Amino acid sequence: MIVGIPKGLLYYKYNPFLFTFFTELGANVVVSEDTNKHILDLGVKHCVDEACLPIKIFHGHVASIKNKCELMVIPRVMQLEKNEYICPKFCGLPEMVLNSIAGMPPAITEPIYAFSKNSLYKWAKTAGKYVTSDIFKIRHAFKYAYEVQSKHRTGINNNEHDIKIALVGHPYNVYDNFSNMNLTAKLDKLGISVETMEFTNDFLINMEINNLYKRPFWTYARENYGFALNAVKEKRFDGIIYISSFNCGTDSIIIELIKDKIGNFPLLILKVDEHTGEAGIDTRIEAFSDMLERRTQHESNIPTNG
Ligand code: SF4
Repeated sequence: MIVGIPKGLLYYKYNPFLFTFFTELGANVVVSEDTNKHILDLGVKHCVDEACLPIKIFHGHVASIKNKCELMVIPRVMQLEKNEYICPKFCGLPEMVLNSIAGMPPAITEPIYAFSKNSLYKWAKTAGKYVTSDIFKIRHAFKYAYEVQSKHRTGINNNEHDIKIALVGHPYNVYDNFSNMNLTAKLDKLGISVETMEFTNDFLINMEINNLYKRPFWTYARENYGFALNAVKEKRFDGIIYISSFNCGTDSIIIELIKDKIGNFPLLILKVDEHTGEAGIDTRIEAFSDMLERRTQHESNIPTNG
């Protein structure tokens, strides 16, 4: 059995689990390439126009390996935390893909509730049966994959430069270097260090959420808001860069809430889609970098945030 895993959306966070689970079941696993121009073009061709860039890119990854596998994993990620969801597009992802791309192999589309080991095991039991009927093998593969995933850490935290920004955004925007146009490397060249939300304690993130009149029920919206608001208070950050996608409903709300709260703390919002030109992104981050540099050189002139 050859199982295909598309390298899109939450692959960046949860690939060790998926890869280990199917490999331990005895399947051969085919993972699509890193996102590139060909994959983007395939995604744009196969996906509806209105979708955000990460969803289009996911379609491209699927299309790129559909003829190389006998079973495709299309993760319908419903929940990572109790009482929270990801985004409606995740809930309907399998339907979008299966109705848009012709000639698909059978797909695993069962909903994933990953807020606890037990809830995730329910998915593993159903998904594992596509590969083997041996329930002991499935249980072993799940336990091992869960253990491997628990040891996996994502996150960027470099401290080479005097200026440091909090890089905020959904994992697929932060970690897919094609869609974010190598943002971290560009910032490094400009003398800016980067830190992502994985290095901020959940307690601090949730403390910021408690100040909202209503708790966001989208997991990444909550985390991005809490991380950005906390970054404003942390002495180690000189600014925030929020990398987002055009047409992202949750980001459009969260960005406004952040802007409303942070006063004059430097914030750069980069919105990307398949038409975004790299030169435009370069100009904007260069201008932001100049501004941060000027601020750090004349810190005593900076008014306090209101
Ligand atoms: S959260 Fe935003 S970027 Fe992510 S899939 Fe949903 S609409 Fe797209």
